[in-house]
Parts: sequence; C-alpha cells; structure tokens
Amino acid sequence: MNTVKPYEHWIFKTDENGIAWLYFDKKGENANTLNNEALDELADAIATCAAHPPKGVIIASAKKSGFIAGADVREIQKLTTPEAVVKFLNKGQGICEAIEKLPCPTLAYINGFCLGGGLELSLSCDYRIAEDSPDTKMGLPEVMLGILPGWGGTVRLPRIAPVHTALEMMLTGKTLRAKAAKAAGIVDECLPERVMKLAAISIILNKPPKRRAPWYNDIFRFKPARALLAKLLRKQVEKRASQAHYPSPFAIIDNWEEYGVAADEGFQAEINALEKLATNNTTQNLVRIFFLQEQLKDMAKKSKYKAQHVHVIGAGTMGGDIAMWCAMQGLRVTLQDTAMSRIAQVLKKFNDDLKKRIKEPFKIMDYRDLLIPDVKGEGIAFADVIIEAVFEDLEVKQNIFKDAEARAKSTAILATNTSSIPLDEINQEMKNPGRLVGIHFFNPVSKMQLVEVVHGEKTDVDVMRNALAFVLQLKKLPLSVKSSPGFLVNRCLTPYLLEAVALYDEGVSPVLIDRAAVKFGMPMGPIELADVVGLDICLSVADHLKEKMEVKIPEALVEKVKSGNLGKKSGNGFYKWQAGKAVKSHLSQQISPIPENVIESRLILRFLNEAMACLRENIAASADEVDAGIIFATGFAPFRGGPIHYAEGISFERVQKELKEYAKIYGERFAPDLGWEELNK
Ligand code: NAD
Repeated sequence: MNTVKPYEHWIFKTDENGIAWLYFDKKGENANTLNNEALDELADAIATCAAHPPKGVIIASAKKSGFIAGADVREIQKLTTPEAVVKFLNKGQGICEAIEKLPCPTLAYINGFCLGGGLELSLSCDYRIAEDSPDTKMGLPEVMLGILPGWGGTVRLPRIAPVHTALEMMLTGKTLRAKAAKAAGIVDECLPERVMKLAAISIILNKPPKRRAPWYNDIFRFKPARALLAKLLRKQVEKRASQAHYPSPFAIIDNWEEYGVAADEGFQAEINALEKLATNNTTQNLVRIFFLQEQLKDMAKKSKYKAQHVHVIGAGTMGGDIAMWCAMQGLRVTLQDTAMSRIAQVLKKFNDDLKKRIKEPFKIMDYRDLLIPDVKGEGIAFADVIIEAVFEDLEVKQNIFKDAEARAKSTAILATNTSSIPLDEINQEMKNPGRLVGIHFFNPVSKMQLVEVVHGEKTDVDVMRNALAFVLQLKKLPLSVKSSPGFLVNRCLTPYLLEAVALYDEGVSPVLIDRAAVKFGMPMGPIELADVVGLDICLSVADHLKEKMEVKIPEALVEKVKSGNLGKKSGNGFYKWQAGKAVKSHLSQQISPIPENVIESRLILRFLNEAMACLRENIAASADEVDAGIIFATGFAPFRGGPIHYAEGISFERVQKELKEYAKIYGERFAPDLGWEELNK
C-alpha cells in the first residue's frame, strides 16, 4: 500500500487495486472520536478522493477498540452558542454529503463501537460491513446527552432500516450488535474478522446493488401515516420522560413527522433543533454527567489490578447476587454459606437467569461452571478477592475476617459488603487491619450501576486502589467513600424517604407524594422506592443513622414493619403490590392537605441538606463525586446535574434561606448544614 498523504489522525493509503483506505487513528487516544481537527483532515482526504477518484474508498479504524465512538463529547461541551452549534453541524453534514457524492463506491469497515457521528458517517457510504463480534455495537445514543443526531442520521437511518427500528434507536439510544444490524438492513454484511478485508475489496470492485429500506417504509412517505405513528411514539416517550425535562426525543419525533426522510429539509431540521437543544441546561448537565462517569472510571484506572477468582461468603440476597454478577463477568467464583441448601438456591437462580439471557447451550454450561459451591470455604486460599456478605452482625464479620486473613493469599483483597458497621470495628481482630476495604453493592446488584468502595481510617491506599479497579472490572462505577454511617448514598436517601413518610403521617396520599418527586425528575417517587427497597431495610438503615444525625422515625414506618407489611416483597406496604406493580389510586380522587410545591420542597431540601453534610464531612472527596454518586445510585434527576450542582444553580444562599424557613415551621430536621455557610464565604 502507498501512503497518499500524512495526517495526524488518519492514515490514508491506496492498495494494489487502486482502492483508497482511510484508517481513523485518533492521536493520543484509545478510542476514535471525531473532533474538529479529525473532521478537517477527513474533509481534506475526501476532497482529494473527489479530485482524483480512486477505484473506491474504504473508511476503517486503525484501533482495536472500535470504528468511531461518535463526536468527541469535549467538542459538544464547547458548543455554548447557536453559532458554534451551526458551524460544527455544517462541517459534519458537509463531510457526509461529500462522501455521498464521491464518484466511486464507498464502504464503512466497522469493528467495535460505531456510534453517533461514527454511524452517521458510515450511513453516508454506499456500503457497510460489520465484524461479527460481541464488541460490535451500532447506535445513535445522542438522546442520552439531551441532543439528537445532527450529521444527517435522523434522515439516513430510516432510509435504509425499518422505520420502527430506526426511531427506537434514536429515541432510546439503544445499540445493535452486528447480527441485529444486518437483520435491520443497517449493514450489508456481518462477517468474521478474517474475511472482512477480502469482502470489503470484493464489494468495492463488484458494486452489488445498494441496501434499500423494507417496502413498508414507503407507507411513511405520507404525512398522515407519520402523524399517526408520531402520536403513539410521543405517548411512549412521555411514560419515560417529560418534554419539559427531556425535550430531545420529542424533537426527533417532531422532525420525522414533519419531514420524514426528505434530505434537505430533514438536515436543516436537525440543525434548527440542535441550535436550541445543544445549548440548554439539560444538555449541559447530561454532558457533565458523562464526564463525571469518566472521572469515576479514570480513578479506578490508577491500578492495573485484575481478579480471576472471587470468593463470596454468604449466599443470601446480596452474596448470591454478587456471586452471580461476578460469574457473568467471566470470573471464577466460589460461594460459601453455612448450609448447602442456601447455595443451591443461588445456583438454581443463576441457571434460570442464564437460560433467559443466553441462547447457546454450550455458553450456558461455560458460565454455570464458573459458579462453584464451597461450604467449607476452600476457595479463600486461592481467591484474588474475598467478599463477605453475611448478615449485619459485628462479631460474625470479625471472625470471618480473622479466619480469611490467615488463609488468603497475601495479595487478595478482603472486602465487606456491610451497609452500616464501621470498617474500623470489623477489622479489629485482623493482624493487618489495613487490608480491609468495603465494597458496598446496592440491591438489586445486576441493575445498580454504582458501587461504593469504602475506606476506614486504616485502609491501605493500595488496597483501596485495587478495590476500585476490581469494581470497574465488574463493569460497575466505583465511588470512593469514607466509612461513616450510611456512607454517601443511604445517608442522603434516608432523610428524603423519612420526610416522605412524615408527609404520609400528615395525611398526604402516597400517590401525591410520589407525583411531586417524579415531577421534580426522580425516576420513582420516595414512597414507592421505600416499598421496593423494603420497609424493614429502610427502618434498619434509619436506626443506624440515628447516631449520626437527628432522625425522627415516623410512626407509620414502625407500624408497617411491625405488622409485617414490608413493601413489594410482602405484597403490602404503603401501596398494595400486584404482579410486581404498585396499585395506585387515581390522582383525580386525591385532595392534598399540603400544596404540591411544599411537598416537593420538603423532600428535595432534605436531600440537598444531607448531600451538603456529606460534602462537608468529606464522605466523598469532592462536590462532583457527591453528585456522581447520588445520580448513579439513586437516579436523582440527571438533567439537574446532581444535588450540589443543582443547589449551586439556585444559589447556596437561597437554599440555606429556604431551609431556615422550613426549620421554623417543621423543626430542627431542616436546620441548614454548616457546609452551606462555609461554601458561601
Ligand atoms: P441475608 O440475610 O439475605 O444473607 C446472609 C447470608 O449469610 C445467609 O445466607 C446466611 O446463611 C449467611 N451466613 C451467615 N453467617 C455466615 C457465616 N458465618 N458463613 C457463611 N455464611 C453465613 O443478608 P443480605 O441482605 O444479603 O445482607 C448481607 C450483607 O450485605 C449485610 O452486611 C448487609 O448490610 C449488606 N447489604 C444488604 C443490602 C440489602 O438490600 N439486603 C444492600 C447492601 C448491602
């Protein structure tokens, strides 16, 4: 191959067939993302191809991590004025159009991530082939950042894929694997790596007919048909997000309804919508969250620690789920409990889960073999990580770590999943207490993204680093927190949940309390959340927090637990539960003794006040980390950017003033934390 032109981010070569290969190799980064520089170079390369057409052009990646992960989010963060938005979009759209107009055949050679702007670029090629690998993921995830595809994707994707698939991908950010992308007609071929190159060359030289959308897409050339589907789609989206908080999916539907797949109007509509969306608060906050996530991952990357074998002690609610999750990540797991019958329940559940998720019987067997029952705890001597998840009893935990320390490898991480016992009490019987770290998973383990990695006074810095790396290895987001009752997440959630129960005690119906929180942007109301978590667990966490802060436990909570109404798991709590769903009375029948804005303020102010207390006490290291932990563990209204960021937006002074006013009416539990004053100085 001959190199045609030297670039910083692209390798531009022609092969013996006269085909130009453009390999994207973003300088200094592991993943390919498109920034202004990379786009300028690509524009230049395409212009060269237009001036001296080769036999064909193949756009590929020089990186193993994938094709193109989209536009560089740092570039999106810089789009703070409508002019900057229009300029960036015109550049991307211009390149896609130039590729489309090349007089020779063009092909995108896709491996790994092909997302956002990467997929849009590939859609402007005549052909696309994708590597048949679990790492190949194709999608338009812009909606997750509060924006929409702006380089022609909203028009070009529904031109080749079934309309419902294309819209679902844009509205949910859902990605498709290579085989699914082929079935949807988004790629022409899905092939093993070894034949990709030959296939790419053959397609360019033979120019087979281009992909066309399925026949039924034609129905949506008519506006009334689009209007009908758009109405349905709006209803579906409204169930997940309100237009006021998340306008971007609604803009995608509006544009498609208005222009369908008409090129010029559709491209301009993308620009018009993005001029507003890219600069609004929701997008700025969602972009901020993207970076917070990266920040947590980067902290875990300071250690190269990789575990192969995990030993879990306790096969109950948490231990069982932790063991299953670790095995699903390909780790060997030994699972210990006092009775084989407890472990057997987990093995059965694991088998059932695997059958639901995996089609190939051999793969199911491979995963099943990874989870090994171990009543005697023989795995302790071989494990890289030992996680204790027995019930909340100090003495039992102390004995477990005394024994584990004596038998474990010297390099093994010794971790407890305790929710409330201070690490410096659990480590008291250990010869080297610095080895103990907390790895606090949330329930349900498979769904919760965040894991708190807890350090006591004595926890060794390297142990902490390795534990953070281990959590990232498990594909979870690790947050470093100080050992203190409730750590960060339960501590902030508890006052908020207790305030909800206090409102219930004052005669406000659960539906109205929950509605106020959901209107604020919470994924679920606090009363429903308490029922889901289990009222016994809420009560026990609140009891433990009593030593840390003024906690007045509402009568209603104590009564419900006493009478065995524990929430979802017992079928009755604040709500009745049927087929896994809370039965909610009609809102029109509800009259609240307290105005809705006061309900919202009472709930949110207590949340903010506790988040501030955690920041002041360094429970997490920075305001960003407090925000990240709260968002990723509780779903705290992501578009508001986290509790501290939200309070800062209102102004700390105003939050403090409101807390003072509420303290006068409702008592000391609203007394502003000292942190507000300190940060105001
Ligand atoms: P659980 O009662 O469901 O399970 C505890 C298991 O430990 C039982 O199977 C029991 O037989 C076993 N066990 C007890 N003593 C043992 C020993 N000496 N050796 C081996 N196994 C032993 O408890 P859980 O809800 O899974 O909680 C476990 C830990 O996780 C606790 O520290 C709890 O604070 C913490 N946690 C719980 C939740 C939750 O929502 N349940 C969430 C986060 C953390």
